Amino acid sequence: MQIIQYQDLDSNVSDKIQSIINFVSNKYIFDSTEMTVSVDIRDNLDFDGHAVVDPCDEDDDYPLNFELEFSDALFSTVELGGDQFWLTLVHEMVHIKQFALNELRNFPKSIRWNGKFYRMPNGKIDLAKYLDYPWEVEAYSVEKNLYNEWKTSYTALDTAT
Ligand SMILES: [Zn+2]
Repeated sequence: MQIIQYQDLDSNVSDKIQSIINFVSNKYIFDSTEMTVSVDIRDNLDFDGHAVVDPCDEDDDYPLNFELEFSDALFSTVELGGDQFWLTLVHEMVHIKQFALNELRNFPKSIRWNGKFYRMPNGKIDLAKYLDYPWEVEAYSVEKNLYNEWKTSYTALDTAT
C-alpha cells in the first residue's frame, strides 16, 4: 500500500492517517501491496458533503488507485480534538475496500453493489435514500467499532515505545 498525502501535515496527524488507512485495508484486503491511496484536504469539494472516495481506475473490476478527499471544515475538527475526521477516514476506507473487492462500483447512471444495480438519476446519489444504500449501511455499521479497535491498537503501540 502506497499512501500519498498532498498536504504537508503535522507528523503526528500524518502518522495517524497512514495508520488508519493501513489498519482498515489490512483488515479486509488480503493483498494491498499494489494499491495507492492519495489523501487530499481541500477548501472546496465539488459536491455537498465533507468526504468523498474516487476510484481513479474506475473501469477496472479491481481498482488499485484511490483518491480520498476531505473538506477543510471536517479536517479542522482534528485540532479541536474531535473524532469526526478520524471516524470519517475509517468510513471512507470501508468504501475503498468495497471498491477494491469489487463489491461496489460506480457507473454513469447507477451504482452496482454485489451484482445489484441502484439507479442514480442524473448520476447522483439520492440523498433521501442515502442511509439506506447497503454500502452506506455497511460503512456506518462498522465505522465506530473499527475506529475504537484502531485506537486501542494505536495507543498500545504508543505506550510500548
Ligand atoms: Zn459513505
